[in-house]
Amino acid sequence: MRRIVEPLCNWYGRNKRDLPWRKDTEPYHIWVSEIMLQQTRVEAVKVYYERFTKELPNIEALAHIEEERLLKLWEGLGYYSRARNLKKAAIQIMDKYHGKMPNTYEEIMKLPGIGEYTAGAIASIAFGEKTPAIDGNVFRVIMRLQNSKRNISKLSTKKELFQELTEIMPENPGIFNQALMELGATVCIPNGLPRCEICPLKELCESFKTGTMLELPIKDSKKEKVEEEYTVFILLNYNKVAIHKRPGRGLLASMYEFPNVKQKFNLKEALEYLKKQEYSILRILEVESSKHIFTHKIWQMTNYIVYVEEIEDENEWICITTLLDNYALPSAFKKQLEVLKEEMKNR
Ligand code: SF4
Repeated sequence: MRRIVEPLCNWYGRNKRDLPWRKDTEPYHIWVSEIMLQQTRVEAVKVYYERFTKELPNIEALAHIEEERLLKLWEGLGYYSRARNLKKAAIQIMDKYHGKMPNTYEEIMKLPGIGEYTAGAIASIAFGEKTPAIDGNVFRVIMRLQNSKRNISKLSTKKELFQELTEIMPENPGIFNQALMELGATVCIPNGLPRCEICPLKELCESFKTGTMLELPIKDSKKEKVEEEYTVFILLNYNKVAIHKRPGRGLLASMYEFPNVKQKFNLKEALEYLKKQEYSILRILEVESSKHIFTHKIWQMTNYIVYVEEIEDENEWICITTLLDNYALPSAFKKQLEVLKEEMKNR
């Protein structure tokens, strides 16, 4: 394993992508980018990262931002709990560490929303600590290099790999960790054939020699996602629209959403339901249905635009333009927002 270090780091020096968060080794920049990169493509993250760090250039600014504004900056990235944890951690850093990111893996791990991988990335890249940062890319590269049939879903495999990588950490662990991730992201790729012909490690790669690249790494198969049916109402009253906050725990905790019911209603059923809620309906129209895929479930949504006469209900009624400009709705409601924008144009 030790023999991979030099060719890999040299390759990284020549081939690394020019990414905005690689301009320096500022821990705040590494932190924000790594959190954004969980589940989102590099190309998409670039735009979000630039906007986020322009408005919130340091930990202090992040600690003081209003939650609604923070969520607006995060809109489109999904997983809003990650944005909330960023702010929580920033407040802790202000209180406990005088606004400076703690400089050891162990201390960084104590911050909300920071797991082993992110802590390893910050500690090694920003502070030169000899700590591995193991993400899916790193797992794939090492399992292929070793032609290893170990199951990467097992905690024991992760522990073993952490130990193996710690033992070969060079003097510049940040470069080594980034080089491994970069090789996994651009050469030893997950879907389709890895680009072994241009890989700097092909001479050392056991799975290249035996042709088992596509069989590795081995992991538990994913569970089937559960499908759920919803009926979503875009309730309008002149220039106002109804939204309400989701419960403080669980999926999309404390996020705003359009009123909805966990059931598929046809037009007649939707009308009956709304009448029971004592809405006086002026017009109702079924619009295009939509679907949102979460990590463990799928929402199938039947959508209605409904014009109602003013009534007292449990929703918050806000100006449509305020909703579109200042509120962050989860991307699950992207379609409904598009419908609402279209409706505004046609008025
Ligand atoms: S030779 Fe191929 S399989 Fe082996 S590490 Fe390189 S890209 Fe991955």
